[in-house]
Amino acid sequence: MSPFWLRYSLRRVHKLMRFLLVSDLDNTLVGDDAALSMLNQSLQKNREQMYLIYATGRSYASARALQREHALLEPDFWITGVGSEIYRDGAQDPQWAKQISEGWDRDQAIFIAQQFQPLSLQPISEQNPHKISYFLDPKAHTNTLIDLQRALTDAGLAMQVVFSSNRDVDILSAKGDKGRAVLYLREQLNIPAETTLVCGDSGNDISLFEHSTLGLIVGNAQPELLRWYRKHGRPGHYLAVKHYAWGILEGLHHFQLGR
Ligand SMILES: [Mg+2]
Repeated sequence: MSPFWLRYSLRRVHKLMRFLLVSDLDNTLVGDDAALSMLNQSLQKNREQMYLIYATGRSYASARALQREHALLEPDFWITGVGSEIYRDGAQDPQWAKQISEGWDRDQAIFIAQQFQPLSLQPISEQNPHKISYFLDPKAHTNTLIDLQRALTDAGLAMQVVFSSNRDVDILSAKGDKGRAVLYLREQLNIPAETTLVCGDSGNDISLFEHSTLGLIVGNAQPELLRWYRKHGRPGHYLAVKHYAWGILEGLHHFQLGR
C-alpha cells in the first residue's frame, strides 16, 4: 500500500489533470443500454476533464454504425481494427500507418496462414491493410495459434497473432495493437500512465493491460482475458463485479476518476 501522502497527491493530480479513458466497445462499453446511458451521463459531466478513446476490433465504418445505434458519445480518437488504424476527426492517422508498416508483409502472412486448415478468412469488411482476420474452427488443436505465430516469426515477419472471443484470430503488426496505439496517443497528448484507465473484456484487449496504466476488466469478461489477468494482473488492474458499462462505472469509482 502506498503511503498516505502519495495517495493524497495522486488524488489531487487526478482532480487537476485531464485523465484519459480508453474503452473497448462490444461487451465492454456496449452490452447494457441502461448502464451505457448512466455512464454517458457521468462522462458528460467530466467531458472537459477527460480525453475519450474507443479501442475496438471493428472497422471504422462499423464502429461509427455502432455509435449511431447506441448513441455513444463522440470520442477524441478512434482506435479501430484491433489497433491497426487510428482515426481523428474522420481521417486516418498516416503516421501510425507508416509506423506499423515496418516488417509487415500481408501477402506472405496470408500465404503462411492458409496452410493452417482450422483457419478460415473472415469477410472482406473485417480486413484492412494492416490486419488479416480469420475464424478459428472450434475443434482446432490448442497449439494451432502457437504454431502460426512461430511460422510467422520464423519467416522473419514482425507480426503478432491475437485470439479473441473463442473464435476470432487477428494477424497484426508486432507494433500495431490496441495497447501500442494507446501508448502512441498518450505520448502525443502527454498523458501519464497513472491518469489513464483502459477498459476491456476479451483477448484483443490484453495488449491494453500490458502497459503500466490503470486497467479495468468488466465482470462479464471472456475466459482468455480472465486467464491472462490471473497470471499477469497487477495492483493497478481491477476486476469489476458488474457487467458492461456498469463495470466501467464501478472502475471509475474505484480509481476515483471523474466526479
Ligand atoms: Mg470486446
